[in-house]
This record gives sequence, structure tokens and C-alpha cells, in this order.
Amino acid sequence: MDFDFTDAQQAFRQEIRTWLARSVPGELRGRGFASSRGEPEAVARLRAWQRTLHKAGYVGMDWPPEYGGRGASLVEQVMLYEEMARAQAPQPLNRSGLSMLGPTLMKHGSAAQKGRHLDRILTAEEIWCQGFSEPNAGSDLANLQTRAVLDSDWYVLNGQKVWTSLAHVADMGFFLVRTDPSAAKHKGITFILVDMKTPGITVRPLRQITGEAEFNEVFLDNVRVPAANVVGKVNEGWGVAITTLAYERDLLTFIRSISLRNALQRLVKLTQSRGRNTDPVVRQKIAELWIGEQALQLNGYRSLTKILKGGAPGPEGSTSKLFWSHLDQELALTATQVIGPYSQVAGGRWAPDEGQWQFYELLARASGIRAGTTEILKNILGERVLGLPKD
Ligand SMILES: Cc1cc2nc3c(=O)[nH]c(=O)nc-3n(C[C@H](O)[C@H](O)[C@H](O)COP(=O)(O)OP(=O)(O)OC[C@H]3O[C@@H](n4cnc5c(N)ncnc54)[C@H](O)[C@@H]3O)c2cc1C
Repeated sequence: MDFDFTDAQQAFRQEIRTWLARSVPGELRGRGFASSRGEPEAVARLRAWQRTLHKAGYVGMDWPPEYGGRGASLVEQVMLYEEMARAQAPQPLNRSGLSMLGPTLMKHGSAAQKGRHLDRILTAEEIWCQGFSEPNAGSDLANLQTRAVLDSDWYVLNGQKVWTSLAHVADMGFFLVRTDPSAAKHKGITFILVDMKTPGITVRPLRQITGEAEFNEVFLDNVRVPAANVVGKVNEGWGVAITTLAYERDLLTFIRSISLRNALQRLVKLTQSRGRNTDPVVRQKIAELWIGEQALQLNGYRSLTKILKGGAPGPEGSTSKLFWSHLDQELALTATQVIGPYSQVAGGRWAPDEGQWQFYELLARASGIRAGTTEILKNILGERVLGLPKD
């Protein structure tokens, strides 16, 4: 990739910077790295923020114009993320819609599905959740048991999903269901779009270590879904899901790096304000994190270049997710060490940065689990990228 910017690109950067300076709502600025997405009020604020971003033309910039994007170049996309981090702006709320389902529908969806959903993903009119994991199907996702049985033009769904982020506020979900139980494990799975308001769906929030309830159990009891909602072919949903998961590990990690950079910039300020910036050990650690963050960005550029040139994310995208989760946890730990015992204070006048660091340290525990656990990603990299023997 060419890192020299043209005059037009420099002008674009200035345009975003000016826009962000006046448009990021005060209550969201600086709260991007450890804010709750579980509470309905927080979700409403973030939904409105995505709408504002979209109206200004800054959501899905890399999407082709026929799907509501700008067909922007990698450089413009990167500039947007850099400037959002600089302005301490939060990421768009509809992350799984934007970076997972959107690209999946563009590749595998019918014309009707693209026409119905892509624009609503961009505007946050439809918030999406991902119904993949089940009590006995997490890392071993192909073990999923939720059944879908054809009844004329409908599929009738029965089963249970778990850890479904944002299901309690989502309008729609993309689900994996078993349509042929007699087929081999990875066959007989179908990818289907479900309206979360359909009768028979019960969503029960699960409270996490952070205290918020961002994810949920989802029970499906004779839920009738139009057969036209199947994405790709019936019984061939595993291939569709692989596309979605690859985008999750690659593109979504790139979006998540906005939060990481936000947190890092804030950590530097915190270190200065507490007079810890003269401590050589702290300086060394922050330099290490800074270099790590730069390496993560460069690796992200490499993946994004490939995608924007028409390629698809491959197993090597797992390096970004693996490295991001490591950095995320290191950063949270460093902040905890810099702040000392006050890092445990969740709110009130003694809580630094309004308790965001306490929240962040607890939230970071999940980084090595969501979107593929650390162990599974190491397996993928070892076996599928490095060609190491399976045992
Ligand atoms: C914050 C958060 C949000 C999430 N959001 C969603 C969501 O929106 N939608 C959704 O569908 N899912 C979601 N998940 C679920 C997530 O995808 C799963 O938690 C993850 O895939 C791991 O599955 P599991 O929890 O069942 O753990 P298990 O698969 O039971 O794993 C338990 C432990 O065993 C290890 N392990 C398992 N198999 C192997 C192996 N073959 N080799 C080495 N080690 C192994 C794992 O690494 C892990 O440490 C979310 C999870 C979190 C933490």
C-alpha cells in the first residue's frame, strides 16, 4: 500500500476532522472504549450516532455505491477510522450488521434480501444480532442443534441460542439452524434471517462480569420464518457462515481498533495527569503498547487492501483478532497498574475517567473468547496458515 496522501485525500481528512469536531455528542465523546451497549438508553444514543454518521456519508464508505456506500478507497476508509479515534468518537452500533452480515449478503444474498436489508443496516434502522452459538456449540459451532423444519413456504425453528449480543434490542438476527440432521456435521446447516419480533422468540439477558447485560439467551419455540429468508442454499449454510466469521475476525477487528486507539490515547493522558510518565517502566510499557497498536493497524491495512481489491478475508485474518485481544488485555492491565487501587472504583468522584477503566479491565476478559477463542485461533493459524500437523 502507498502511504503518501494526495491533496484530495488530505482535504478529505480535514473534512472529516472538522465534521467530527462539531458532531460527536458530548456524552459519547471519550466513552468509546469502555461504554455499555447493554442498556437500552445507551443503545438509543449509539443508534442515533450511527444515523448521524450515515447522513454525513461516513457509514459503509467502502460498500459499493449500488448498495448505498461510496465505493471509497482503502486510504479514505483508514483516514475515517484514524480521525474517529482522534476525536474519541464511538464505533457505529450496528457492528455485526455492517461488518459481518452486510458483506455476507453482498456475496450470498438474493436480490430481494439485499434490497430489503442493506440500506437499513447502514442507517441503523435494523439492528442485527448473530445467532450462532448454542450451549453445546461454541468453538465446535458445527455441533449446533437448533432445528428448522420446512412447512410449505415457512421454516419452523425450535432450539436455543446463547451469548447473543444485543438480541434484547435487535430488530433482526442472522441464525444458523440444522435443516438436515441426517447429514454429516458441517452439512445440513442453513443460514437464515429472522425477525426478532416473531412470536415464539424469548430473549433472556445474561448479566456479565462488567455488570451490564449485553448478551442473551434466545429461546426459539415454533418460530415461523419465511423460507425466502434463507441466505445461499438450504443445507449449505456452513460455507456462508465461514464468510461471515472471516469478516468478523478481519474487518470487525479493524473497526474495534478504533476503541483500542481511543483507550491508548486516554491512557497516555492518564499517565501524564498522575505524574507516572516519568517512570521508566511505565514509559517502556506504553511504548510497547503503542508499537503493538501500530503493528495491528498495519496488519489491518494489509487485510483491508486485499478485501477492497476484490479478495475475501482468509484464515490469516485470525492474526488480527488474536493480536488485538492480546493488546486489549495488556492495555487494560497496564491502566490498572498505573492507576493502582483506584482502578477498582466503578463510579463516583474517586473513579478515574468515570469508572471506565474498571469496566474496561473486566470487559477485556472477554476479548480472548468472543469471535473465536485464542486457542481456536492458534489452531487455525497453525493448521491452515503455517501448515503444522493437526496433532
Ligand atoms: C462478549 C461475548 C459476546 C459474544 N457474542 C456472541 C454473539 O453475538 N453471537 C454468537 O453466536 N456468539 C457470541 N459469543 C459466543 C462466542 O462465539 C463463544 O463464546 C466462543 O465461540 C467460545 O465458545 P464457548 O463459549 O462455547 O466455549 P467452548 O467452545 O466450550 O470453549 C471452552 C474453552 O475450551 C477451549 N477449546 C475448545 N475447543 C478447543 C480445541 N479444539 N482446542 C483447544 N482449545 C479448545 C476454548 O478455547 C475455551 O478456552 C460471544 C461471546 C462473548 C464472550
